[in-house]
Amino acid sequence: MQIVDHRLKPGWYKASPHHGGALEAPSLLVMHFTVSGAGAKGVADYFVSPTANASAHVVVGRDGDVRQVVPFNVKAWHAGRSVWRGRPNCNDYAIGIEIDNWGRLMRTADGQVRSSTSRILDPALAVEMTHKNETRPCLWEVYGETQMSALVAVTRAILAAYPTITEIVGHDDISPGRKSDPGPAFPMGRFVSLVG
Ligand SMILES: [Zn+2]
Repeated sequence: MQIVDHRLKPGWYKASPHHGGALEAPSLLVMHFTVSGAGAKGVADYFVSPTANASAHVVVGRDGDVRQVVPFNVKAWHAGRSVWRGRPNCNDYAIGIEIDNWGRLMRTADGQVRSSTSRILDPALAVEMTHKNETRPCLWEVYGETQMSALVAVTRAILAAYPTITEIVGHDDISPGRKSDPGPAFPMGRFVSLVG
């Protein structure tokens, strides 16, 4: 996988109408989860729809499917109110990747594991961990290896094409308290070492 003319190749691309102006010399990569089971195409279709009012550059599905909706030289609307190392509005200098994942899960009284939208999930997908910005453990959806492999490939391509990027952070680093993605189930340390 490589980036040609600010798009992943080979790759699926559809333009989202929800974006800002030129993104020049991005310095940050921001990881998100979608809170969804829609798959990369479902999430990408949402970002392309007229009412979304949000976007990211790329969406990575659980099955490794990769969809791009904003070119990497254009600002996407993924971070919202945010600050990193004293610099506000991370959308102005960050590339954003959405990872399809339910995030926080619930266990019901009868032992079922459910998403925040009450979808019943395989209990094997849930891991109990404490978010670094919180004090109590809760359940989170595990990130599978197929998805992680695709994410590593996409990220390596991005870092190769945009050497101005010097840091990889979570949305929960740039909007702490307001956002909890990609959450404690995301293996940030292993991911950063894999992408070099
Ligand atoms: Zn996010």
